[in-house]
Amino acid sequence: MIAIGVPAEDQDEPRIGLTPETVKKLVKLGAKVRIKSGAGLSSHFSDQDYKEAGAGIAKSDGEAVAGADVVLTVRRPSPSLVKSMKKGAALIGMLDPFSDAEGLAQLAKFGVALFTMELMPRITRAQSMDVLSTQSNLAGYKVVVDAAAAFERALPMMMTAAGTVPAARVFVMGAGVAGLQAIATARRLGAIVTATDVRPAAKEQVESLAAKFIAVEDEEFKQAETAGGYAKEMSAAYKKKQAELVAGHVKNQDIVITTALIPGRPAPRLISKAMIESMRPGSIVVDMAVERGGNVELAKPGEIVTHKGVRIMGLLNLPGLVPVNASSLYARNLYAFIESLIDKEKAALAIDWDDEIVRGTLIARDGEIVNGMIAERLGDKS
Ligand code: NAD
Repeated sequence: MIAIGVPAEDQDEPRIGLTPETVKKLVKLGAKVRIKSGAGLSSHFSDQDYKEAGAGIAKSDGEAVAGADVVLTVRRPSPSLVKSMKKGAALIGMLDPFSDAEGLAQLAKFGVALFTMELMPRITRAQSMDVLSTQSNLAGYKVVVDAAAAFERALPMMMTAAGTVPAARVFVMGAGVAGLQAIATARRLGAIVTATDVRPAAKEQVESLAAKFIAVEDEEFKQAETAGGYAKEMSAAYKKKQAELVAGHVKNQDIVITTALIPGRPAPRLISKAMIESMRPGSIVVDMAVERGGNVELAKPGEIVTHKGVRIMGLLNLPGLVPVNASSLYARNLYAFIESLIDKEKAALAIDWDDEIVRGTLIARDGEIVNGMIAERLGDKS
């Protein structure tokens, strides 16, 4: 029988990687599931709900993970938690693989197999395990709702006997999963939406949401997508042309939302202080990349900075602001992954270390970091 343990997350993380729904499915697979008392409360899942679904309730995190073959977390856990895990067990979470490589090396030393869901290969078989898609989708929705709530004007055009309220103009920079959901949400609220990206594939997707696509569409743009479907770092010449185009556009916008990321690199800087100063007082800029270095000059993580009447919001953990849905989808992503690691007949963990999905997400095993990019970072510093 496979034992699955779930500790509580830190207080500032409302999401949880197990829901009563996935407990039921895991129990059906032959697993024994234990969760720390109260761990689901921020997502409105009570101990009673988990118990009824078939889970055991542990008094402490240590008790939840002791003897577990698989431990599920949302965020990277503390070294003391990983130390209390069984050697050779698997830890699966969103371990933030591109930051603090030394911290990951420290966790690796405890002999636990570390899997990070953010590195799930984007292949058809693994679509149901893609946490970036589930979490970014919710983030893209929530960012627009929060920006609209902070905006002191209406988003849709309104016609009254006393005159017309104009529709607000929303500009979304970066049309990946989060950006496309932000575009769709802003459109539903009645805004006039424009969007940009450096990947040519984004153009059609933006237009299919009835938003206008704006970009420097030169030769470099045509080659800007990697085989994995991600953006490349653009040349200095491209960035200059992009900045000129954006500067001309941003000054007429009411809300600017930036989502641009390049995997494994700092987020590209897209909005300068001068661009912010060109916007009308009362306008709003939201930097969704603020945790990864930021797309917007002046943006600060977790703060709202007001500069010459423009508010720059550095919202953190947006999926955590819709924790019920974020936990439900994340727990389903985890379930789909665990199911692929189990021998169903024996109801035992049977990890195929050569599987593309395992190789993609595994970052440490038997005390060693096995992910090349993280090992390289550690090497750079030693
Ligand atoms: P991401 O979070 O890495 O980046 C967000 C967006 O920022 C991307 O669209 C990127 O092109 C854009 N960007 C980067 N630099 C920029 C710049 N200088 N200016 C403007 N925009 C910039 O990306 P993501 O949301 O994870 O999506 C990346 C791609 O993967 C998309 O095409 C998405 O549809 C695709 N995808 C595939 C699968 C799958 O096949 N299973 C699942 C989800 C997403």
